[in-house]
Amino acid sequence: MRIFWDERQRLHAPEKELHNGAFVPFAETPARADAILAALGPAETPRDRGEAPLLRVHPRDYLDFLKTAHRDWRAAGRDGDAAGYVWPVVRRRALRLERIDAKLGRYSYDASTPIAAGTWEAAYASVQSALAATEAVLAGEPAAFALCRPPGHHCGADYMGGYCYLNATAVAAEAVIAAGRRRVAILDIDYHHGNGTQDIFYGRGDVLFVSIHADPATDYPFYWGHADETGEGAGEGATLNLPLPRGTRVSEFERALATALERIAAFEPDVLLCSYGADTFAGDPISFFKIETADYAVIGRRIAALGLPTAILMEGGYAVDALGANVAAFLSGF
Ligand SMILES: [Zn+2]
Repeated sequence: MRIFWDERQRLHAPEKELHNGAFVPFAETPARADAILAALGPAETPRDRGEAPLLRVHPRDYLDFLKTAHRDWRAAGRDGDAAGYVWPVVRRRALRLERIDAKLGRYSYDASTPIAAGTWEAAYASVQSALAATEAVLAGEPAAFALCRPPGHHCGADYMGGYCYLNATAVAAEAVIAAGRRRVAILDIDYHHGNGTQDIFYGRGDVLFVSIHADPATDYPFYWGHADETGEGAGEGATLNLPLPRGTRVSEFERALATALERIAAFEPDVLLCSYGADTFAGDPISFFKIETADYAVIGRRIAALGLPTAILMEGGYAVDALGANVAAFLSGF
């Protein structure tokens, strides 16, 4: 299988995040990528396809914010990473504020997404890896893998959150449509609901979004991913959320997966994009499912059995010592 990764993706390395009430070392580290690359072997560097594919999803002002936030933060006299600490409530009127503190709140929804010096460059390169894998399957590869890091599925069109700055899966989906294909299905199997991806395509009938994740009644991102969220307008019925309780093992997970795959097959997509997170692993330090390494091969096989051209895009997974084996097991199913 072709594997895509850009060394610039290492440049994103924030120091700390606010987690469970304390500032702790940032969990989404470059070491995650090292672990995956060590298990998979050499990767191809993607060709740079520029900003145009990103602009199909993200508005210009949001990209400009990501590029300048760290510089503006330092210019305001601060040390360390740019991090939001004040957010406008939903009903607050829209204001065009220039102060970096206000912009960080305007363009984010949580406190786990600091911007370091290399964040823009790394997130941009991560999306380029996703585009390369997508182009490979459009050109006839049955499956391809992009080691997207930082991940993307919590990022909306104009806001960051949950370690995500640009939504690589959404950009990939728009690239498929721009290439003349009619329908794209997204299967998100990260432990956490892919709220950004859902939000971007909630009103769209040509992009099916299916997610299996921890019940947002107990787990991040709380405000999205409930079973009664099914899409709106032209997108009514094109969102399927399958929340599962903490402690879920592979047998329960496979039942939800069967439902997900049935829906995807009925949609008859031209391409499948799989947002794959290995944080469903039993040993993950921030998650609560009980999936074992060998289970990932079975899950991969079930998805591959759809027979759809599939680009697999990396999302979460924080048990670094097991991460390479978990990703390799999943890809072996293809
Ligand atoms: Zn996750």
